Amino acid sequence: MCGIFGYAGSKRSAADAVLEGLQRLDYRGYDSWGIGVVERNLHVEKKVGTVGRTTALPKSPIGIGHTRWATHGAVTATNAHPHYSSDRSFILAHNGIAENADAIKTTLQSEGYRFSTQTDTESIVRLIEKKRSKKLDLSEAVRSAFKELTGRNTIIVLATDGDIVAARNGSPLVIGFGSKSSEVYFSSDIFSCAPHVEEYIVLDNGQMATYRKGIVSVFDIQTGKKIRAVREKNLLRDVSVNKGKYAHFMLKEIHEAPFVVQQVTKENARKYRGLALAVKRAPRVYCIGSGTAGAAAAQIAYYLRVYGNIPATALIGAEATDYRNLIGPKDVLIAPSQSGETADVLEVLELAKKRGATIASFVNMPGSMMTRLSDYPFMAHAGPEICVMSTKIFVSQIAWGYLVAKAVQGALPEGIRRLKKTASHINVLLSDTAYMSEIARHGKRMSRNKHIFLLGKAQNLQIIKEGMVKMIEGAYIHAHAIAAGDLKHYAITLMEPGVSVIALVSDDDVKSDTLNAIHEVRARGAEVFGIAPQKEKGFTHYLHVPDGGETSAIINVVPLQLLAYSMAVALNNNVDKPRNIAKSVTVK
Ligand code: GLU
Repeated sequence: MCGIFGYAGSKRSAADAVLEGLQRLDYRGYDSWGIGVVERNLHVEKKVGTVGRTTALPKSPIGIGHTRWATHGAVTATNAHPHYSSDRSFILAHNGIAENADAIKTTLQSEGYRFSTQTDTESIVRLIEKKRSKKLDLSEAVRSAFKELTGRNTIIVLATDGDIVAARNGSPLVIGFGSKSSEVYFSSDIFSCAPHVEEYIVLDNGQMATYRKGIVSVFDIQTGKKIRAVREKNLLRDVSVNKGKYAHFMLKEIHEAPFVVQQVTKENARKYRGLALAVKRAPRVYCIGSGTAGAAAAQIAYYLRVYGNIPATALIGAEATDYRNLIGPKDVLIAPSQSGETADVLEVLELAKKRGATIASFVNMPGSMMTRLSDYPFMAHAGPEICVMSTKIFVSQIAWGYLVAKAVQGALPEGIRRLKKTASHINVLLSDTAYMSEIARHGKRMSRNKHIFLLGKAQNLQIIKEGMVKMIEGAYIHAHAIAAGDLKHYAITLMEPGVSVIALVSDDDVKSDTLNAIHEVRARGAEVFGIAPQKEKGFTHYLHVPDGGETSAIINVVPLQLLAYSMAVALNNNVDKPRNIAKSVTVK
């Protein structure tokens, strides 16, 4: 979370360049933002809310900026980044959590240092000040201070002389190089500066970079030794980031579901088979993710169990601590992630890697840490996902997982055939304007609920979880996904007239179990909105979805995401940027 951006070059005004970068990074946090530029002195402007306009910054060739998702300290302009050093000789922006910030603060306070914000970040600023007071130059002071931090942190520092120093240990940082002029960009992701960048470097954990008079140098933080960083070609220059004809990015991205499913069918078959072999040989297979990607990981584990005959275990990133000691050298970990930077998942993967386990990842953002850690790195090639709520990437993650499972089964071509059909089924739904209005009507109706229950089983269980997540995230309505068979064990107590239940039913071998649960709900007076290939007795309201056989779940998720979208729209919520959340969760 939090986006960091920096610009140095003569082509544009730094304030404008940084502002544009922050606008493209604000999916990472949008409670407050700030920009600092150097023009003789440092000038900083900070505001609460989503990235807006700057009014008081002078024209300057060098600047840094930040868009915040607060972890420590209230959402105020004072707590927004960048933060000044006491003597105003440098400013600093930070992504991450300095876990030992309080201890550092206590020591520094006892030495006379004064603090004026509530952030953990300020401890880093003051620590660098202390190092500088010992006559260390800026980059040495940053290096020395950074080594003392615990937690996952990335910082960028700009000094009055125009020098920039950035250091990474956890959260992402790329350095982009413009083509004709000597423009240099620093950013949390490559998409934010892609239109202006010819080549880029991805900083690794434990590396830092300095910019001085047009020259970028990369160093190892521990040793201070210079590193030859490999420049990668930016292939995203022409990737467009606009809503097109759609009212929101979310709607546009849901409409890209057929495209993203097609993309996974185009991946090299040898890569799928390579991973399938590793999975077959592994004593244990763990699928791990957080939030929406957690539901995707669980769906991938489901596919591996059902089609691959592999007893795969699903893990939630933040809840994997009890598995840490169980991960062995021959195990395989499979991680689907939009950003490839999810902190709690990365922590488990890094540990697994140390133990010698094999890592496979499926990521959308190029240059991510997860990709770099992976023995089997797969890319979604789904194009940027701008809405903070993930929709198309969830679809691509589960479609990919289905193909991995089919490869384990030895039936990859069949899987690809089925997925192509799935893509065309989804396409038909999305092109049907009457169908879209029908969902919008249901969304409006359901947006009046305070609570919504979702029922599903087997292939649909993680799909109702994804529906639940989207309704909570986008509509701010309390939703509760229940395994259909588990209903009678607890949530049945809540079933009464006025209660709304959504049921996903497929023509599979657990259909009758889901129908039983629906009848149990109806018997207690609650109403059921059935989403199924045909209308069943027990449905109060009904929405059709085509039967996709093995891949029904991949079709079913689309109307559920659309329903959540329609609910958010009906409630006038900020669809693409729901309150309090951020897209790339790089803090724990
Ligand atoms: N911990 C810092 C703050 O709260 C940075 C937050 C982040 O990276 O999400 O300001």
